[in-house]
Amino acid sequence: VRSAAEMAAITESDLGFVPTMGAFHEGHLSLMREARKIHDCLCVSLFVNPLQFGKSEDLDKYPRNEERDFAMAGEVGVDILFAPAANEIYPRESTIVHVPEITDLWEGSLRPGHFDGVATVVLKLFNLVKPRTAYFGWKDLQQCLVIRRMVEDLNVPVSLSFLPTVREADGLAMSSRNVYLSPEDRARAPKLRQTLIALAKALSVEDRSVASELEVARKTLVGQGFRLDYLELVSLNDIRSTLDTKNAALIVAARLGATRLIDNLRLGADVI
Ligand code: AMP
Repeated sequence: VRSAAEMAAITESDLGFVPTMGAFHEGHLSLMREARKIHDCLCVSLFVNPLQFGKSEDLDKYPRNEERDFAMAGEVGVDILFAPAANEIYPRESTIVHVPEITDLWEGSLRPGHFDGVATVVLKLFNLVKPRTAYFGWKDLQQCLVIRRMVEDLNVPVSLSFLPTVREADGLAMSSRNVYLSPEDRARAPKLRQTLIALAKALSVEDRSVASELEVARKTLVGQGFRLDYLELVSLNDIRSTLDTKNAALIVAARLGATRLIDNLRLGADVI
């Protein structure tokens, strides 16, 4: 489906929805397979949302491969692939959805406007697709919290399902941007996950200082050649830094070359 009007005209009572920006990998496919098991009808959107990219970000370079995506969606049994053009979604300057507080930190502060773009497009897609349940990956942990908050605050009639991160055999979280890693950086990248696991183990030992363990882990990553944007222990309620390991996650963003990697580990919840 290409047109917004055509998508809006489809009314399926039990529709599962997976919003994506395409360049599918196993992470995307796992969301689709899970939704496929549950719903009569499965819709996947493929839309590289210009509103969530900053001026200096990689909108033009973002990997696109529609034909391959179409074929992969077909194999998973997607019923509706919604792949609109940008002017279908934004025919004029759009009203913007701004989720407060949890967008102030981390990805929100490093990528100004990013979550406004995400919240706006996700609400528009929800209104066009009208899903019963929408599926998102925990890999983008802050994004999950932003969408959950938007849905609660605006009483959006959709239920949300957040699913675990799919990884390469060496632990690197799958991402459309991984293809841009040089061979040297690709070999280094799994250290991100390994550092989170080591840190989570250290924090599970009583009487360890959270602040000093975080500092050790930050130094490890910098020593491995990562340029670190942040590595923090945050509360899953409000994504603020915390020293309390209950209902908390380690979140990290770091760059290797021009590629920015993010990952996270929920203490107590993720298998490590
Ligand atoms: P994207 O196309 O990058 O916007 O991602 C579309 C959806 O797939 C989002 O809900 C992401 O959180 C999710 N996703 C991306 N990478 C992974 C992964 N490695 N494992 C699970 N879900 C993922």
